[in-house]
Amino acid sequence: MKIAVLPGDGIGPEIVAQAAKVMEALRKDGLPIELEYAHIGGAGYDAAGDPLPDATLKLAKESDAVLLGAVGGYQYDNLPRPQRPEQGLLRIRKGLGLFANLRPAMVYPELVNASSLKPELVSGLDIMILRELTGDIYFGQPRGIRTLENGERQGFDTMHYSESEIRRVAHVGFQSAMKRGKKLCSVDKANVLDTSMFWREIVTEVAKEYPQIELSHMYVDNAAMQLVRAPKQFDVILTGNIFGDILSDEASMLTGSIGMLPSASLDANNKGLYEPCHGSAPDIAGKDIANPLATILSVAMMMRYTFARVDVAQRIETSVRKVLQQGLRTGDIYEAGMQKIGCAAMGDAVVESL
Ligand code: NAD
Repeated sequence: MKIAVLPGDGIGPEIVAQAAKVMEALRKDGLPIELEYAHIGGAGYDAAGDPLPDATLKLAKESDAVLLGAVGGYQYDNLPRPQRPEQGLLRIRKGLGLFANLRPAMVYPELVNASSLKPELVSGLDIMILRELTGDIYFGQPRGIRTLENGERQGFDTMHYSESEIRRVAHVGFQSAMKRGKKLCSVDKANVLDTSMFWREIVTEVAKEYPQIELSHMYVDNAAMQLVRAPKQFDVILTGNIFGDILSDEASMLTGSIGMLPSASLDANNKGLYEPCHGSAPDIAGKDIANPLATILSVAMMMRYTFARVDVAQRIETSVRKVLQQGLRTGDIYEAGMQKIGCAAMGDAVVESL
């Protein structure tokens, strides 16, 4: 289990250190885990003038899986776009061919009051958002800012999806629905966008290979509404890059804290990059108050998807549950009557519980 560890910026190093404690404990128990560290994001820019140094991409390619903290920080906001931290993320996803981003949104019974929605709407919530990650308007060319004939300046981007890009992510969606509640909702904007009309056509075609799955289609504006009206109607949501970016953040808030949510980005062979859904939280960096559980749960996803060790994944997940049952909370999920602890203490508690 050769794992590239990329702490990144802001709270990245703090939360990754807790996940590393968990992996170290698993290694002591006999798992053949090998960790190697490299820079990404602002840390990559500071170390090598590039948010994705060549050495980092090389290490990631040679590893079985990648664990990433987060990237970004105020001090990098005015750099030219190619040097900005988030370019490191976009490039590593593209460089490793990670086209399928899986984000579970689960509500732990212990945290049902942390959600901004009424407990009865979210209690027992367990949905999976599958976002296509390497296509769409985020990568489409041409893009830029141009001057029109009338002298006015115009910003523009290009949205496109090729048939093969839609097909491969649709297969991942149907296969994950097979392992779950056998329902897949494909989200698009087919009433306005040609790209979405084509997306819907291809997803409907792929569905013929999965007759056990109940397929539905929903416009993205309605999906945004339904996620806060009746989120439990969903099992797997399949969508493109830009819609998935927004909907997965919305879904994360249903669960109460973005600090609890892991994610996996997979290639065609289940090699993956695992990271928390949240960003680098520069507002709380270095204060030992960040919640490391999303990063620790990302290790659980890595065990499940890349290493096919469901037993180890469940062991990590159960340990996290136990820590919550003990009443231990970082500030973001704190409620009266619980015991507030810091980032490092939370990591120690999970290791203890393992
Ligand atoms: P953010 O997710 O970093 O923070 C949003 C809010 O959630 C902040 O108040 C933060 O303190 C809190 N928060 C986030 N993670 C937390 C945790 N583990 N525990 C407790 N609280 C937590 O999003 P943002 O503020 O929009 O962005 C900050 C920086 O992160 C920017 O530079 C942005 O570009 C970058 N970013 C990176 C990623 C990534 O690396 N995948 C994703 C999103 C944003």
